[in-house]
Amino acid sequence: MPRSLHAGDPAPLARVAFVLVGTSHPGNVGAAARAMRTMGLIDLRLVAPRFDDVAERPEARAFASGATGVLDGVRRFGTLAEAIGDAALTVAVSAEPREFGPEPAPPEVCAADAMAVLAADPGHRVAFVFGAERTGLSIDEVQACGRLTSIPASPTYSSLNLAQAVQVLAYCVRRAALAAPEGAPAPGARPGPRLADQRAVAGLLEHGERALQTIGFLDPRHPKKLLPRLRRLLLRARLRPEEVDLLRGVLKLMERGGPR
Ligand code: SAH
Repeated sequence: MPRSLHAGDPAPLARVAFVLVGTSHPGNVGAAARAMRTMGLIDLRLVAPRFDDVAERPEARAFASGATGVLDGVRRFGTLAEAIGDAALTVAVSAEPREFGPEPAPPEVCAADAMAVLAADPGHRVAFVFGAERTGLSIDEVQACGRLTSIPASPTYSSLNLAQAVQVLAYCVRRAALAAPEGAPAPGARPGPRLADQRAVAGLLEHGERALQTIGFLDPRHPKKLLPRLRRLLLRARLRPEEVDLLRGVLKLMERGGPR
């Protein structure tokens, strides 16, 4: 028998979620499920799809071909914040960078980064966030993520079909997972500390917004760019849970207006 190049699915892939925001075409959801399945990814999440039953629609089933398991396991969320709440690392996937969003890095770099985060703690999850066919990801949605990746393409036409973008990212993630021996960090990466999840960082930001208003540093009528800047800083910092607690302690005291 000639040797096959296919290899088993590395376990960390089960902790990688692909999140599709506002998808309108059932065919794209099906094709995305197939793209993921071929690369050993299983966690597909939909945020406010155009059709609630999109994963059950015949077109989605047809485009998924045999990969119906991924479609059967699809989870739907009302907001992006809920869909990525459990992730220690979130990566926006967008052809274009956005103001006050993260700097773009190539898919290979973000995939290796994702593997390093997954290797650092068995409880860590990573989410890659894709935009809707017509509109892509909004400024807010890109700013909600800690990293941004763009598939380098022709500057005169850089917009891939959604499911094809999913395929490119899924391939990069699989390659990165195969390059990192199971249970060991990727080459060059060291196991790290446990990171706060996105839900904890979002809670910290909301608390920060309230506390900064209390002390008059943030004027809700003229917020300027304070909040997006703060959000970028906090997401880039890759906070640990105890660091979130520490900052929230400071905020509590600010709200109370002085020493305990
Ligand atoms: N008209 C939209 C295109 C959306 S394509 C726009 O201008 O943004 C649908 C999704 O596919 C995008 O939101 C993104 O997640 C992904 N995608 C398409 N081309 C991409 C590229 N070159 N790099 C990264 N993601 C891409």
